[in-house]
Amino acid sequence: MRVAAVQLQTGARPTGGRYSGFAGCIAHDGADVTSATLRGELRMDEPMARHTSWRVGGCVERSYLPADVDDLCAFLATLPESEPVYFVGLGSNLLVRDGKLRGTVIFTHGALAHIRFEGNVVHAEAGVPSPKVARFAAVHALAGAEFLAGIPGTVGGALAMNAGCYGGETWNIVESVTTVDREGRLRQRTRANYEIGYRKVSLTTDSSDAVLRTHPSSHIRHPSDEWFVAARFKLPRGDRGKARATIKQLLEKRIASQPLSQHNAGSVFRNPEGDYAARLIEACGLKGYALGGAAISIQHANFIVNTGRARAAEIEALITIAHDTVQQKFGIDLQREVRIVGEHS
Ligand SMILES: Cc1cc2nc3c(=O)[nH]c(=O)nc-3n(C[C@H](O)[C@H](O)[C@H](O)COP(=O)(O)OP(=O)(O)OC[C@H]3O[C@@H](n4cnc5c(N)ncnc54)[C@H](O)[C@@H]3O)c2cc1C
Repeated sequence: MRVAAVQLQTGARPTGGRYSGFAGCIAHDGADVTSATLRGELRMDEPMARHTSWRVGGCVERSYLPADVDDLCAFLATLPESEPVYFVGLGSNLLVRDGKLRGTVIFTHGALAHIRFEGNVVHAEAGVPSPKVARFAAVHALAGAEFLAGIPGTVGGALAMNAGCYGGETWNIVESVTTVDREGRLRQRTRANYEIGYRKVSLTTDSSDAVLRTHPSSHIRHPSDEWFVAARFKLPRGDRGKARATIKQLLEKRIASQPLSQHNAGSVFRNPEGDYAARLIEACGLKGYALGGAAISIQHANFIVNTGRARAAEIEALITIAHDTVQQKFGIDLQREVRIVGEHS
């Protein structure tokens, strides 16, 4: 039996702190979900500008910071089927529009934060920052995760985006992942269950079919109704000092080439095959082009920076201008890397 969370339907408004508003809800397996079982933090109308690296965005209707993986599973199981759910890590690849964001955002950063190692494997939960994985692996003399040091997101975001740089890619070092679905069920998956490309990851059709077959009662309507809660990174033994030196070198390269003192979300567009989005945008004369508080970075043309009081609408308009100008001048249809969610104000 699956019963909607009473709280979501009555519109009562908890204001933060430990959540105690789910008393009386019943999970899909019939178990009572009470304030005693839910230990996370529910907030209403949380400003997303606090949770994105661009520091812009309107309010999300509801957000939940789980206490741990079990608590996340219990919370998801209480949500009505119609409730849109969106996972957010450090919001470093995310533009949230200025209007409302409907549904519930699950924040993983500061929540799913465990990291440990066993032999050659680093096990990290989805909310662990990627740079921490890089440093942790280096400290334990494991090689191959150094590239994560400069990617300012979480493990969950790195898995969802197949984040990478300087020749390294997240999924090249993944042994397996743990996922959770809308009903709070955990699954173990391997690389073979995903189609993985340049900044692209999706469950294979086979895998989503398998889920539906294995669990006939499942309400998974789309592969994106499954999210990452942890990953196992398999890494070869390396040299501690060498790994640390590589991390230092990679970070120095970034400091020299990226506008890190201004709020941004990294590269806005994927690089087209055989070229660089930054080169194309710069060749259109758009470096420094500004709209309100948003500007195409003078330092790196594939970055858009918030120079003070930018609105998401200004950033989005700049993205369109860069895209359309490159298309007109070079006939290249740049593909966006940053994700855009929410409603216009
Ligand atoms: C200065 C700077 C430099 C950057 N450099 C790089 C770079 O070199 N290479 C690179 O690839 N990226 C880079 N990025 C972009 C960004 O840091 C990465 O894409 C990062 O992996 C996003 O992680 P996040 O936790 O911030 O994800 P978010 O921005 O929070 O989310 C991004 C997407 O992932 C989804 N997601 C988040 N967590 C989960 C989860 N647990 N399960 C399922 N889906 C989830 C979200 O729903 C969203 O669609 C850079 C960004 C900045 C600001």
